[in-house]
Amino acid sequence: MADEYDGIILGTGHNALVLQAYLCRSGLKILSLDRADVAGGGLATIENPRQPGFLHNTHSFFHRAVTAMPWYHDLELERHGARYIEPELNVALLLQDGRSLQWWTDFEKTCDSFAQFSPRDAATLRRWRDEFRPIVRGILIPEARSPPLPVEQRRQLLSGSALGRRLLAVSELSPLEFVEREFENDVVRAGLLFFNGLREVDLRQQGFGHSIPALLASDRMAQMCVGGSARLAEALVNDIREHGGEVRTSARLSSILVSAGRVCGVELASGERVTARFVASGLNPQQTFLQLIDADAAGQALREQAAGFKYNLLAPLFAVNLALNEPPRYAAADRDLALSQAFMVILGLERFEQFHEIVTAHEQGKIPPTVMWGACPTQFDPQQAPPGRHTAFMWEKVPYAIEGDARQWDRLAQQHAQQLLQRWTQYAPNLAGAVLDAFTRSPLDTEGTLPNMQAGDVLVGSFANGQVGENRPFAGAGRYRTPLQGLYLCGGSTHPGGNITGLCGYNAARVIAVDLSCPIWWNPPDVEQTLRSVR
Ligand SMILES: Cc1cc2nc3c(=O)[nH]c(=O)nc-3n(C[C@H](O)[C@H](O)[C@H](O)COP(=O)(O)OP(=O)(O)OC[C@H]3O[C@@H](n4cnc5c(N)ncnc54)[C@H](O)[C@@H]3O)c2cc1C
Repeated sequence: MADEYDGIILGTGHNALVLQAYLCRSGLKILSLDRADVAGGGLATIENPRQPGFLHNTHSFFHRAVTAMPWYHDLELERHGARYIEPELNVALLLQDGRSLQWWTDFEKTCDSFAQFSPRDAATLRRWRDEFRPIVRGILIPEARSPPLPVEQRRQLLSGSALGRRLLAVSELSPLEFVEREFENDVVRAGLLFFNGLREVDLRQQGFGHSIPALLASDRMAQMCVGGSARLAEALVNDIREHGGEVRTSARLSSILVSAGRVCGVELASGERVTARFVASGLNPQQTFLQLIDADAAGQALREQAAGFKYNLLAPLFAVNLALNEPPRYAAADRDLALSQAFMVILGLERFEQFHEIVTAHEQGKIPPTVMWGACPTQFDPQQAPPGRHTAFMWEKVPYAIEGDARQWDRLAQQHAQQLLQRWTQYAPNLAGAVLDAFTRSPLDTEGTLPNMQAGDVLVGSFANGQVGENRPFAGAGRYRTPLQGLYLCGGSTHPGGNITGLCGYNAARVIAVDLSCPIWWNPPDVEQTLRSVR
């Protein structure tokens, strides 16, 4: 009997949707299945049930450089309704004494702000940015947009050029070492680490010294989707449907079907079986290989590799979401009016040493002293609240399990939210009388809504434990193909990793299209050729 579909994709996170959209445009018949009742995973925007008309982005909000991503243009997402804003004062770190460290889309303004703390650090910032621009354009961007090269081949190719050798040398450091070695001012060091590093990798991790200069050298900064993050997911779904794809939500998966060593479909909890030439999983390795595949079919070795996949200690977030009758008005804006238009605002970060305190608290399962960051989306996009009203949120890095028990969050969330709000109000005194409604999201809630974010890890897997490049999620499954024929991976647990980049799905599309001998209608980079041509 013929397969019902060419492919089935598990999950409808943005990577899964990007993959589906590319393959549908290649003429394949593809179905995606998700347990949630709305597609999009981390692209979630919900309406406040107690305050109609107030929209909250409960997972991702700051979408870095989305409009520069190839899929954003290839899939014509603006024609499908997506639109992005990149506010000029992109990030502001507010200090208790009223000063602020500012990142602007205009690099000269960023340098001016850094110079107020340290003229030497401002000059260092410029030097690294200039030096890393060709590395970002010539190496790091093509690498992120391609299936990863074998580790040794990559090293050899990079060793063949001055830029490549420079990248390899800087990479040997950890982000922490890079910042300590290059920058002198305490606030600058803290700000650089926080804005440019903390979300992405464990800052103590060697092999990532390049991550901070790479971000400094990027052309695009944090962006927000007009109407809410979910509009991006809707645009992707529109493109999929326009090209004949099917997106099914509220679907409970029971198992991935394997026959004669080959993956051939899925079974749902309802007993329904759907067959296909391939299955691509946007879920994490434990879900894919341990929960959904029969132990004998997966085999002991593969099960052990999947079980060994690790999550980030430092990635879980605690969120407070507010419905407001006016936007937060920061006292620091009295001194510098530009701050009233700051997009991402960081509060509570004063000293470099706080990083060690945050790490230690996570290791001990304790809530660290509050460092928070967030935004007031409605200042830039009024349609996310009723006329004249506002929404705002703050996130904080917290351990998944408090003293070893994640369920403690259900007991602690309200009290902790009060403390966070009090601290926030110290910086924005008008919040004391502006809150119409507040609700929280803990790491336990994150895992409950998106179980692929195990232990509340918003990046769906650590970059430690060797889980990078062709070894992400683990050796033998790192180029989107898995040891099981007909089974692919496409979520944040693959190269280049979590966050809203869409590149896991973009790269997986190329691999699957090659395997199925179907047209590659887009223009992905030839990374080998690109690395060879770098000077
Ligand atoms: C509070 C929070 C804030 C964040 N902020 C940002 C940000 O500002 N910027 C940024 O870039 N990133 C942010 N992230 C991270 C970002 O959301 C994720 O890294 C990204 O969404 C991962 O994308 P993905 O394609 O791997 O899948 P996901 O978006 O994680 O989607 C996975 C999908 O799989 C589905 N699923 C899971 N288990 C099953 C199952 N058993 N059966 C069927 N379906 C299943 C889920 O319902 C979901 O739809 C944030 C995350 C959180 C939680």
